[in-house]
Amino acid sequence: MKSISKSIITGKHRVCGVIGDPIEHTLSPMIHNILNEELGQAAIYIPFHVSQEGLHDAIKGAYQLGIKGMNVTMPHKKEVMKHVIGIDTQAEIAQAINTLVHTSEGYYGYNTDIGGLGRALAEEGIQWTEQDVAIIGSGGAAYAACLCVVEEAKSLAIYNRTLEKAMALKAQLEKYYMLPITVHTMEDTPTPASLVIQTTGVGMGALEGQMPACAKALMDGASVAVDLIYNPWETAFLAYAKEKGIQVMNGFGMLYYQAVEAYEKMHGCHIEAETSKRIKKRILEELNGIGESK
Ligand code: NAP
Repeated sequence: MKSISKSIITGKHRVCGVIGDPIEHTLSPMIHNILNEELGQAAIYIPFHVSQEGLHDAIKGAYQLGIKGMNVTMPHKKEVMKHVIGIDTQAEIAQAINTLVHTSEGYYGYNTDIGGLGRALAEEGIQWTEQDVAIIGSGGAAYAACLCVVEEAKSLAIYNRTLEKAMALKAQLEKYYMLPITVHTMEDTPTPASLVIQTTGVGMGALEGQMPACAKALMDGASVAVDLIYNPWETAFLAYAKEKGIQVMNGFGMLYYQAVEAYEKMHGCHIEAETSKRIKKRILEELNGIGESK
């Protein structure tokens, strides 16, 4: 990877960044700075470690400094909603913002995880229109996955360890959408689904090698299995799906395309599909080079 110090920063460069706590693990600076380089954008993207107590001041300060766009990661995705002048509809329904865009009155909030997952699925030719979709999990990533498919899916079945959280997700979706939604514990006998999207943290970190209790049964009859985890590259969930001959996709595409969509909003541009595909390939090569991925 080219060091950022090799680039010349001029007074005309725009500054963007990401706020979170912790922040060291984030891949967003790498993705955005490669996009800057590839697209010839005079901009730089920096990670900022911001604690919960410091969030209000950090956003106020960033705005005054003219920071053009910011991504927002854990644990600020909900709290940041209090600090924006407006929020787009999908972020409002998801009750989470991951992108702030500088406007003349303040920051405006978006959630690009939803569209990012949609672009990643589309790139792999994965259909959700008129499909029965199962979502495993009910955290922030599950809200994004549900919102990605909810307008076109035939039905949604949500599985979660804590049933109350699945019920809250269903209730939120039912305020806006008409499709049939069922909720289940991980131990319930699954209803058949053609597309299964695994959105929990089971399979990574201390839970690497594991998969949610409902996963194997859900894979009977499914044709596509998606795991939003990308580190490890192949979770136990995806390895099992592959063994069963099911098409699989991990979370890297979502990570990349939420960044692309955020980039477009921050810089007011559109990145052609072929260009973003080419840059994605370069990012993967660079990640493999530094042993971060696959
Ligand atoms: P979150 O809001 O904290 O939700 C965590 C979810 O995982 C909840 O449904 C939780 O169930 C479940 N869970 C956690 N530990 C569990 C266990 N031991 N057994 C069963 N269920 C368990 O987190 P999130 O933001 O949704 O993120 C979840 C995953 O998605 C993470 O792995 C993250 O890396 C990934 N993600 C990927 C992308 C991407 O771009 N690819 C974007 C966002 C997130 P309870 O409700 O019962 O606690």
